[in-house]
Amino acid sequence: MSVAGLCEICERPDVDHTCDRCGRLVCDRHWDEDTGMCVECGAEVGQPSDRMSPEDMPDGVDTYRF
Ligand SMILES: [Zn+2]
Ligand SMILES: [Zn+2]
Repeated sequence: MSVAGLCEICERPDVDHTCDRCGRLVCDRHWDEDTGMCVECGAEVGQPSDRMSPEDMPDGVDTYRF
């Protein structure tokens, strides 16, 4: 076993990442690779994870011309 500890969120032994913000050891499921932070910090910082929300789609979808 080369792991240094347990995930500090779910206490699974398969930690792979360290949060860039709080330094917590977290498992893959609780680490956001986009931000390099654990999910708790991600929630605190409030990163918009849905940049492709359907409401952002412009009305003129058929502006693609060849
Ligand atoms: Zn976890
Ligand atoms: Zn964190």
